[in-house]
Order: sequence, then structure tokens, then C-alpha cells
Amino acid sequence: MHRKSLAELARGLAGGEFSSVELTTHFLDRIERFDERLNAFITVTGEQALAAARRADERRSQGEAGPLTGVPLAQKDIFNTRDIRTSCGSRMLDNFLAPFNATVVEKLDAAGAVMLGKTNMDEFAMGSSNETSYYGPVRNPWDTERVPGGSSGGSAAAVAARLAPAATGTDTGGSIRQPASLCGITGLKPTYGRVSRWGMIAFASSLDQAGPMAASAEDCALLLNQMAGFDERDSTSVEREVEDYAAGLEGSLEGVRIGLPREFFAEGLSAGVEQSVRDALKQFEAMGARLVDISLPNSALSAPAYYVVAPAECSSNLSRMDGVRFGYRCENPRDLEDLYKRSRGEGFGDEVKRRILIGTYALSAGYYDAYYLKAQKIRRLISQDFAEAFQQVDVIMGPTAPDTAFRIGEKTDDPLSMYLSDVYTIAVNLAGLPGMSIPVAPADGLPVGLQLIGDYWTEARLLNLAHRYQQQTDWHRQIPGEFE
Ligand code: GLN
Repeated sequence: MHRKSLAELARGLAGGEFSSVELTTHFLDRIERFDERLNAFITVTGEQALAAARRADERRSQGEAGPLTGVPLAQKDIFNTRDIRTSCGSRMLDNFLAPFNATVVEKLDAAGAVMLGKTNMDEFAMGSSNETSYYGPVRNPWDTERVPGGSSGGSAAAVAARLAPAATGTDTGGSIRQPASLCGITGLKPTYGRVSRWGMIAFASSLDQAGPMAASAEDCALLLNQMAGFDERDSTSVEREVEDYAAGLEGSLEGVRIGLPREFFAEGLSAGVEQSVRDALKQFEAMGARLVDISLPNSALSAPAYYVVAPAECSSNLSRMDGVRFGYRCENPRDLEDLYKRSRGEGFGDEVKRRILIGTYALSAGYYDAYYLKAQKIRRLISQDFAEAFQQVDVIMGPTAPDTAFRIGEKTDDPLSMYLSDVYTIAVNLAGLPGMSIPVAPADGLPVGLQLIGDYWTEARLLNLAHRYQQQTDWHRQIPGEFE
């Protein structure tokens, strides 16, 4: 059953080939059997899952099932889940039982999807390798000595090894696309405002966006259909109708103009990744698309601007973790000041502390103009680059990440080289655009992702392009041998 895509599983449920209880049991067994090797899950909610599966089967027998009713999936541990630990990968929230469900969780629950558990992630979503998690690193199913990418590494590894047919992720600077790329799965970061951020623990509020991670574009479309939509509880969610993302998947690619940014094929890109990406682009050409060279001249400024804006916003968002209201509290505090200092000092890991320090500095009275304001101006330039590009082309394509999965420990002592894992993804968040990663031919036996970037609200177009490619290839169907 686990070899089937989410869409196929949904059809199997609809056709009565198996029940949700059978399907859920199958995936819970796989988690039991394989997750010790991967560490993709922080919490497995077996009992609740089986109860939800029984409800889903009941619902179906009464003729009230929707497309996702009874389909198992995993939630990134950044989404609040009522009465279930919601750790965000941090010691700070290790004991935190959320009192409510995030909107994304609520919507998927309402659709009848079955949550298998909460997936591992970089602490507060800060990282590109899953190594900053309090719960230890996740391992890449294609080579367990390597990282799965981050911060949605647990979701990516779980889907790649088919411990879950699909999972949710969040993407602030690349955290859906980069792990999707390193694990050989499909991931979509929607336009900023498309999916509600309510109940999703905030990292950098002006950049964070939730999206689906699954084997195929068709699967992502089914998930996005349920996840997207206006939410009055999130003031940044946009009041705009949700299209049926699965409806346009078959659209023709004839005459589609694909922009290739010169800056994405320059120094820093590994030869193997470049080869696989160029081969995939040829395939798009063969399907009728036209390749156009373009430039995004301010690309080099995106990482520096991001590493001011994201830490600045996180320093503010994380101030609520104070040891008083919820989460970790140090033992025997001397006074209030000691309680704050030691609770935060002991509850947060090094990368989170580094970001809080940088962010607090960048926002301080004497430096605000020099750093935060300047970064915001660069952000505008980056958005303009994209706006100009989309006058000439319909979609932009290039690599998702500069290289394939690196070894666990390889970059932990060098934060700057770690930050460069997201050079091709970050600008998309700064501009608020939708972006996607789909698996193409591997390089040296490791997965490679092709990134698709669209203009605002063109998720359906990206899914259409990805789906047409996946109809002609089977990279998205591959499962690492150990986990077949
Ligand atoms: N790797 C980037 C960072 O560390 C992006 C993380 C994310 O998208 N959540 O900030």
C-alpha cells in the first residue's frame, strides 16, 4: 500500500479496496519498524490515529467522505495540536501540550485525514539540516549518514521512506523545498497569505508559509485544496477564492515560457546538480515549453537580507517563551530575572540563541536603520526583480539547492556555509511568491530537486507543470531500497 501515491490511496479508499483502519495500521507498522533508523517523528499518535481512522471509515459508510477522508498523513511539529505535545523541535516546548489546533490541522481533520504523528524539525524551524532539533538529527532515507535537509526534515524523510504518504511543512526561507529536494519528494510553498498561519508557531511572521509535502504534484494539489483559504484569525491570510488545484493538472505546456536566472547557474552550484537540472529542463522543452535566459540581478543580496529580517522577527516572536506562561522553566529561580535568564538559557539551543542575539542587535535603536530598514529595502528590490522577470516569462526554474544531501556534522561548525543551503530558495520568501521542488534525475545516487517559481497565486500553474513532468518520469515514485 505504501508504494501508492496519496491520490492512489484516496482512490483505493473510495473504491473500497481497503479501509482507513487497514491503511493507518499499515503506516503505523512502518513507523514502528523503520523510524528508529530515521528519527523522523517526535511523537507518534497511534491510538488517536486509529480512532480517527475508524471515524473516517464510518463517515465513508454513510456516504459523507471527501477526497482526503481516511488518508493518513503527518504534521510537522510546528503546528499546534490539541492535547498533543507540540515541541517545535525545542527543549523549550518539550512539555507543551497545545490547548488548541492550528487552522491547518483543523482543516485537515475536518476533511477526515488521519494524523499519524508529529514530525521532527530544526529547533523553531531554524536550520537547513535538522541537526538543530532537541530530539536529535533526522537521517536521510537515501543515505542515513546524510542530512534530510531542514527545517521540515522529518516530514521529508517520513514521506521519502513512505512512513507517511504525505506531510505538512513550513517554509520561511526554503524549509519545504530544500528538504523535498534532498529527500527526492515533491513540496510546495504557496504564495504568502494563501494558507493560514494561525496556530503555526511563528518564526519570521512576514516570511512563514505552510504547504504540502508528498510524493507527487497531484498529491500536493489534493492537500493544498484542503489547506488553503482565508482565515479571519490570521490577519495576513488573503481573502481570495481557493481554486481547485487538481483541476488544471493536465493543461498543455505548449508555448509556456520558462525563465532561467543566470544567477542560479553560476558559481556555487555543483556540477552534478546542474546536469540533472538541465536535463529536466530539456524535457520541459520537449513538452513544448520555451527556455528563456533571464536575470535576477539582486539575487546575491537575498541571503544577507534574509539573515537580518528572519532573526529580527524571530527575536520578537520568541520573546513569549519566558518560562512563565508555558513551556520550560528552570529549577529554583532566585528571582524573576534569574527565571527568565535561566529558562531561556537552558530551554533554547545554540542556533536559536544566535538568531535571537543577531535579531535583537539588528532591531536595537542605534542599528535599526542600518540593518533592518536596509534589509527591507533590499527586499523590495528583490520583489521588483521578480516582477520584471514575470513580464517576460510565465515561470522561473532552476536548482532548489546548490548540492545534494551533505553528511551529518559536515556543516554544523560553519553557520555561514549552512545558510548558503538556501541561496536559491530565500528570495522567493522575501518576495512572498509560490515555489515548488520536484525530484529530477539523481546525482551520484542522491536526490536532486528542480525548483519552480511562479508569480503570485499561480500555484495551479506550478502544479500543472510539475504534474506533466511527473507523467513522463518516475523519479517521484522511487523509494530508497532499505525502505521498499
Ligand atoms: N534554512 C533557513 C533558516 O535556517 C530557512 C528555514 C525555514 O525555512 N524555516 O532560516
